[in-house]
Amino acid sequence: MRILLANDDGWNAPGLAALAEGLADIGELFVVAPEHEQSAQSHALTLREPLRVRRTAPGRWAVSGTPADCVYLALHHLLPTPPDLVVSGINHGANLGNDVFYSGTVAAAREACLHGVRAISISLARRDNRPPHWETAVAVARRVVRAVIEQPLPADQHMNVNVPDRACDALRGLRATRLGRRTYEPLVELRHDPRGASYYWIGGPHLDFAEDPSTDGRAVADGFASVTLLETFPGPTWPLTDVRRWTDG
Ligand code: MN
Repeated sequence: MRILLANDDGWNAPGLAALAEGLADIGELFVVAPEHEQSAQSHALTLREPLRVRRTAPGRWAVSGTPADCVYLALHHLLPTPPDLVVSGINHGANLGNDVFYSGTVAAAREACLHGVRAISISLARRDNRPPHWETAVAVARRVVRAVIEQPLPADQHMNVNVPDRACDALRGLRATRLGRRTYEPLVELRHDPRGASYYWIGGPHLDFAEDPSTDGRAVADGFASVTLLETFPGPTWPLTDVRRWTDG
């Protein structure tokens, strides 16, 4: 079993180190991760700048680009043969509901999925500034990785996992969920730099999660690790009725 690790927090992030240590006995590990933090870069590819690749250790590389760049380079160039599995994380912070559309962590898994490689993203849902319970996320990662090795994911689907930041014995278990909505307070802050020019700082605090207990955010709020299957391409039953009213076919 050959496993590629990636993330969006950067090659030196503690969550990646914890994941590498935690999966070391499950397979042969490779790591391709961004040189600098790329959180909230979503699925961007670097197409108009050179990508620099730096080997940090045998089988490990840092890339001067995005998480999707990392997986692309890993699958098509850096690794001698494609991996059996890509695991992205462990992200420092949740990727729940709306977050998955902005997340570089999730995009790294999606990129692998687009290239036909099964993939998992995993995030630790931080609540405060106390030391993170990486060990809980590692324990969940081991369980999920083993399950995905045993039973491959459906085509065009990748798995997004979020773990509450609490001790292992306080984790209530794993819950299969669907993507729920997560709302943030919209915030645009106008400031001025020392030379008097204006600049903006965007992004407000988390407000709430969908109430439905079958959603990812609610599961984590209830103390469960959330396991969500995400689909890259919707199935053939996608409702097109409304669009067909004004298109030609
Ligand atoms: Mn991140």
